[in-house]
Formats: sequence, structure tokens, C-alpha cells
Amino acid sequence: MNFSMTPLEKNLHAVQERIKNAAERAGRHPNSVTLVAITKTFSAETILAAYELGVRHFGENRVEEALEKIPAVSSRLQTQPVTWHMVGHLQHRKVKDAVALFDLVHSVDSVALAIRLDNRAAALDKVLPVFLEINVSGEASKFGFAPEPREKLFEGTHEIFSLRHLIVEGLMTIAPMVVTADDARPYFRALRELRDELHSRFPDHTLPHLSMGMTDDFEAAIAEGATMVRIGRAIFGERKTS
Ligand SMILES: *Cc1c(COP(=O)(O)O)cnc(C)c1O
Repeated sequence: MNFSMTPLEKNLHAVQERIKNAAERAGRHPNSVTLVAITKTFSAETILAAYELGVRHFGENRVEEALEKIPAVSSRLQTQPVTWHMVGHLQHRKVKDAVALFDLVHSVDSVALAIRLDNRAAALDKVLPVFLEINVSGEASKFGFAPEPREKLFEGTHEIFSLRHLIVEGLMTIAPMVVTADDARPYFRALRELRDELHSRFPDHTLPHLSMGMTDDFEAAIAEGATMVRIGRAIFGERKTS
């Protein structure tokens, strides 16, 4: 035990260890799971401290907050090998800022949003990697494409695949609040199975990523094939509610 470790360092190591163990239990290579540290509500200082500990993927869920924090962090990094992930619902009027700020958007939840992102990416002459958010549980409180009827989802997906300035790299979901992490497994499994169906339906498109799993359920998500886990509280502690 190293007594000089900060709480952040201890938490981060514990999470990394749990990711590694969950991957190994599932017969997967630990490197096949990317940790995205979700820093919403936490300061630029905290993000920099995590950067010092080796974290290179950060996620935010609100454009307003990211507009302040991302430039503050970036200005203090020598080089910029950080990937910024947008994981929250994106309002159409925030698309312009979002495309300028983020490297990857996990939360594409409608064809209309995809078209706006594509237009903006085109204006900046870039290709934006995105994930399609799927509301697997069907909860009214959640955003995302409905998984059923499948034909409608496939139509929307087909339209998004045709956009030249977006590259769809995977699917994302948020599981419902459950009592034990294992209760979340069916939702994660459903996302993986949907991805496999999309592969059969659109063989020219590969969707390597499954963004699923948060503080309370990431091990279950890894067991079902998560390639990106989005973890906040287990690393940074409880968020102050506003
Ligand atoms: C806040 C948030 C997370 C992280 O949640 P924790 O429970 O703190 O791990 C992951 N994904 C999204 C979309 C979030 O908004």
C-alpha cells in the first residue's frame, strides 16, 4: 500500500483493476476496454490531475460546461493527446459548439441531429466519429432511438450511414437503475445483439464500439462486450447535486 496516493489515484487504480478483471473474466483483453472518465461537475483542476495519472479520454454531458472546461484544460497541456467525448443529450442549437469542442459524440439520438452534426462537420471540413444512442429500456426519461420497430431503426441508420461527414463507429446505451449490476446485463446484451443485427443488415459498415457501463454497472457491461465504459463517481466521488 502506497500511503502517498491521493484519493483520486486510489479510485482510478481500483477502477482500472476492476476493468481488467472484468475483461479477463469475460476472456477479453483488458486493452479492448477504454475508460472514459466522466468529468461533469468536476473542475478543470481535477481533469488535469486525472491527466497526470494517465487518463486520456474525458467525457462531458453539457456543452455549456464543456465550453468553459475544455479550453481551460487544453491550454495547460503541452501536447494534446486527449480525446473529448460528448455523452449527453445534444440540443440542436448547441451543435455548432459541440462539433468544435468534441472529438466523438456518443449521443446521436435522432436522424435530424445527425444531419445537423454532418452539416457542421462539413463546414469545418472534418469527419466526426459518432455512436448512435439506443433507448434499450424504453424509459420515457431517456433519449435515444427506439430499438423497435427494427425496420424503422434500420431506415434511420441507413440514412445516417449515407452522411459523408459522420462516421458511425458504434452504439451507446444507458441501462436503467437496477438493484444489482447483473440486472443490467440484459440491456447490455440487447445492445450487442442489435449491433450484430446491424452488421448483418449493413455488411459494408462495421460498428466496433459498444459504449455501455457506468459506475454501478460497468462490470456487467464488460461481460456483455462493452468497448468503452463511461465512469464518473467511482473515480471522482459523488457529484454535488445542483
Ligand atoms: C454522468 C454520466 C455517466 C457517468 O455516470 P457515473 O454514475 O458517475 O459513473 C455516464 N454516461 C452518461 C451519459 C452520463 O451522463
